[in-house]
Order: sequence, then structure tokens, then C-alpha cells
Amino acid sequence: MKKVAVIGAGIVGSAAAYYLSKETDLEVTVFDDGAGQASKAAAGIICPWFSKRRNKSWYRLARLGADFYQTLVSDLQADNIKTDFYDQAGVFLLKKKDSSLEELYELAKKRREQSPLIGQLSLQSRSNLPADLADLNGFDRLLYASGAARVEGSVLTKTLLAASRAEIIRKRVSLNVSSDGNYWVSDKLFDAVFLACGAWLPQILKPLGYEVDIRPQKGQLRDYFFKDSHTGDYPVIMPEGELDIIPFAGGKVSIGATHENEQGFDLCIDSRLLDALEREAQTYFPKLNEAYSKSERVGTRAYTSDFSPFFGQVPQLKKVYAASGLGSSGLTSGPLIAYQLVQQFLHKELLLPADDYSPNNYIVKGS
Ligand SMILES: Cc1cc2nc3c(=O)[nH]c(=O)nc-3n(C[C@H](O)[C@H](O)[C@H](O)COP(=O)(O)OP(=O)(O)OC[C@H]3O[C@@H](n4cnc5c(N)ncnc54)[C@H](O)[C@@H]3O)c2cc1C
Repeated sequence: MKKVAVIGAGIVGSAAAYYLSKETDLEVTVFDDGAGQASKAAAGIICPWFSKRRNKSWYRLARLGADFYQTLVSDLQADNIKTDFYDQAGVFLLKKKDSSLEELYELAKKRREQSPLIGQLSLQSRSNLPADLADLNGFDRLLYASGAARVEGSVLTKTLLAASRAEIIRKRVSLNVSSDGNYWVSDKLFDAVFLACGAWLPQILKPLGYEVDIRPQKGQLRDYFFKDSHTGDYPVIMPEGELDIIPFAGGKVSIGATHENEQGFDLCIDSRLLDALEREAQTYFPKLNEAYSKSERVGTRAYTSDFSPFFGQVPQLKKVYAASGLGSSGLTSGPLIAYQLVQQFLHKELLLPADDYSPNNYIVKGS
């Protein structure tokens, strides 16, 4: 039996643990500290097709990541596991200028040829919305795409960990190379290691002499809870700018998220920023006033200096695989990245060209 350690149980680590556990000759152990984890703070929007980013490798990863949820859901269903963490509720995209909405509609129609998951697309007037959505406000027209999904990050990671046969150890760990070329994590010896440490990857690799091009970005959002459990009837609402409104089934609506570059690993709630998002959200979603309670989440995203994620084998560390830099779309791309890393470790067919996402430019061994 080969022993594999996964360090980090966010979306990448928990999905890697799930796919590794499918191999009967592997014994998988997951170590997770959990503090500041981005995956459990995530807004949960799976809707990459409207991005104007020009980076083709990034877009391919994001669109195939959205597609990969279909595979993940059917793999879990084949294991008799509940998949209600994933809900294709659709999205309303709002723009200040009508011409921008039409431009986006044309872009989406083109992208749908490659990504049928986008689903039904239409430009709609607010006045024609069905009666149960008529309380939405603050815009005249919108672009609707039926294939966008919302995902509860914390439910998804819990589901994947429970579905895996992995032992889960909740603590912060370090990585050491043993004299025979294996790896010590905590007091256990492993044949291979997956570093799914998000924004904390530089910290675990530094003692081994590596510099990693990753910086932290703080993200906060607020969850609103409603007695009316029909919140799931609303689609995700994406106005221009930072604000997104993500209604979940069962009486929860999330409003977020902030993108704070100067706060390092700080996890304190800054009510000022969340109150500003709340005021803006109320113009679109006046029902927010009816929430009977609120709570906040905060997490740390990981970014590279060119905003591109990377994943693959760590240079000069055989059988150590790392992924980081997933930025603000990591819940979308995370399961696919984890699957690709597992395939790479098993020498099986890859879904993405590994060189396009190689860690070599981002993880550098000092002399
Ligand atoms: C507020 C917010 C909103 C977001 N919204 C969206 C969205 O709508 N759609 C989308 O696609 N993406 C979204 N994202 C981005 C997405 O959440 C992240 O890119 C993704 O979750 C990163 O996953 P990860 O597994 O790489 O890292 P993480 O989820 O951060 O997990 C890393 C884990 O590793 C653990 N760890 C690190 N070092 C060690 C160690 N030495 N020992 C033990 N454990 C360790 C950490 O504690 C953590 O639990 C959002 C992020 C935030 C913060």
C-alpha cells in the first residue's frame, strides 16, 4: 500500500483526496489547519463564461472547470452520495449600459458553441420577469444564462472528504524530506504528497529552500438568513463591480465579496465594507431587509503576480504535487485541477496540457 499525504482540505485538497481514494492501492491521509480557508468562505458562483480576461489558458481552465462539475456530480452519484451542494440556478447579469449587456450576449452566444453548459441565453426586461421575481429592482434589462450554478463550498468539501476513504487530521503541519527520498508530514512517512495549501504554499515550501510567487488576498462576505425558505427560487444576481447576490435554497442569501489586497492574512471582519455591499445589494434585492439574522465569513484567496493559477509537480521534489494561485475563480477550477494532479501522479491521461499551468515559473528553488 502506497501512502499519500494531502496537505490542505479546501476544494483542491478534498477533491484530490476523493479521487486518490478511488485507487485501492493507496492509503490517503489529509492534514488541514482550516483557518482562513478560501473554499469555505467562497461565494460559490460557477459562471466563468462572461469574463473578459484575455488569458486563454485561464479561460480554458475556468470553462472546463465549470464543465467538470458535471463529472464530479455523476461520480459522486455513482457512489450514492448526495450532490445537493451543486445547483444550476441560472444567473441574471446586470450592466449599467444597455450596449454592454448586448455585447455580453453576443460573447456568450459565441462561447456557448464551445460550452453548451451555459444553457439558455436571453436578454429580458425587468417588467417581464415572472411574478415570484418581480421584487428584484434597480435595473431595466438583464442577461439570463440558465447554466450558471451556485455551490456551497463548505458542504462540497465536507461531502468530498466524507466520500473519500482518507484519514483526516485537523492540524497545521510541515513537510520534510527523509534520507531515502520519501516525505515526513507530521510524524508520518509518505511516498507522495499533494500540497493543496492555497495561499499558505510559500510557508510550507520556504523551509525546503523554495520561493513561491503567491500573495494573499482577503475576501469577506455576509450571509443573510430568511424565514421564507423560497430563496432558492432566485437565480444568482451579478451586477457590475464587486457585488454579487447568491440566493441559496433553504433561506440563505450570501452577499459579497470583498477583494482586499493590502490585508495579508488578516481574518478580522470589517463591517464598514460589508455594510457598503449590503446597501448596494438592497437596491437590487430589497427583500434583504426581511432577514432575521446575519453572519459573516472571511477567507484568504491566493494570487500569483500574473493572476494565473499553477499546478503540477514541485521542481526537484519527486512525487510532490502542488496547486495554488486559483484566485477568485478557484471554486470553479478546483475540482478539475485536483483531478488533473491525481491523473498526473497516476501517469494517466490528462484533461489539460500540463505545460500551460506548470509550477516551474512560480516555485523556484534558491541556490
Ligand atoms: C470571499 C470569497 C469568495 C469567493 N467566491 C468564489 C466564487 O464565487 N467562485 C469561485 O469559483 N471561486 C470563489 N472564490 C475563490 C475560491 O474560494 C478559491 O480560489 C479556492 O477555494 C481555493 O481553494 P484551495 O483549495 O486552493 O485553497 P483553500 O480553500 O484556501 O484551502 C487551503 C487549505 O490548506 C490549509 N493549509 C495550508 N497550509 C497548511 C499546513 N501547513 N498544514 C495544514 N493545513 C494547511 C488551509 O488551512 C486551508 O484549509 C472565493 C474566495 C473568497 C475568499
